[in-house]
Amino acid sequence: MNKEEIYQLIERSEEQVQELNQTISQLQQALRDTVEENNRLLLLNYDLKELTQNLHQQMENPVQEPTPTDNETTHLSGKEHLLEFYHEGIHICHLYYGQQRSSLEQDCLLCLGVINQFEDQ
Ligand SMILES: [Zn+2]
Repeated sequence: MNKEEIYQLIERSEEQVQELNQTISQLQQALRDTVEENNRLLLLNYDLKELTQNLHQQMENPVQEPTPTDNETTHLSGKEHLLEFYHEGIHICHLYYGQQRSSLEQDCLLCLGVINQFEDQ
């Protein structure tokens, strides 16, 4: 193998490494998109479950006014679910809704605001 062949091989290897890096980047982006979509579906599924549950309750007790105890229970469970999503690293705030939080240690003030709103109701 002469010098020229070695240089060509090195050049070709560098191109292959760059291609591999691009492929890895594409895969990383695809994974991020999939995780985000999954998070959104989780949140949507929770919303739909709660909505269905409320509709069933209304159909079963059409004239009964909700008592404060009922409200408290619903809000508590709603807040607990939001906290669960949040602790799993999913944004529940309007700005980043469904996105994966970059680091579990970093708190999102917007998300915490949403959770605190639940407390005040
Ligand atoms: Zn957030």
